[in-house]
Order: sequence, then structure tokens, then C-alpha cells
Amino acid sequence: MAKHSSRDARFKKQRLRVLARDNWICIYCGGPANEADHVIAKVKGGDDSMENLVSACRMCNNRKGKKPQAVFLGQTATPLVSPSSTSPKTVTAGVKGPCMGQARQFES
Ligand SMILES: [Zn+2]
Repeated sequence: MAKHSSRDARFKKQRLRVLARDNWICIYCGGPANEADHVIAKVKGGDDSMENLVSACRMCNNRKGKKPQAVFLGQTATPLVSPSSTSPKTVTAGVKGPCMGQARQFES
């Protein structure tokens, strides 16, 4: 029996769309992304819409878990994507995470 439902297949496509939109860059650390993260976790009522999905690498996705994006960003204080940044560890303690409005600039 197939383990994956058609819902999973649909999300897979959606994930590819999100990754393409965000240029396969993790919005949290600027590294290469291969996963789509729910801005609002599904258990919190988020859906699979493009607006609720952002590109993320596995590490950030795992670290974020089910936390709201703003909370996650605030906690890690990782600046939103500096394109050619090769050191995602340049974390400035105490800096507030970027606002949600900034993440939205990826939408065209
Ligand atoms: Zn990342």
C-alpha cells in the first residue's frame, strides 16, 4: 500500500512552487533550502497556501518546529537572507527578528 496520500503529493508540488518563488534560499539562514516551512503551523490553523509557506532548509525547519515564524525569528535573531552570505552563524544577540512584512517582499 502506498503510504503517501494524494494530499502529500499536492503539497510536494506546492513546496516546489514555494522553493522556486524564494529561489531555493532558506529565508531564515540564507542557505540552500529544500523544504517549505509553514509560517503558521498547520496545527495552529495554517494552511498550504503560498502565503503561508516559505522556503527553509531542513535545519531551520526542524529548529523552528511549530513555533510561529515571528517567534522563531525573534529567538534566533537571524537576519532575513543576505543573498551572498556564507556565514549563517553571524547572529547578533538581542536583535529583534525582522517583521512579517519583510518576508512578504518575496511575493511579486
Ligand atoms: Zn536555514
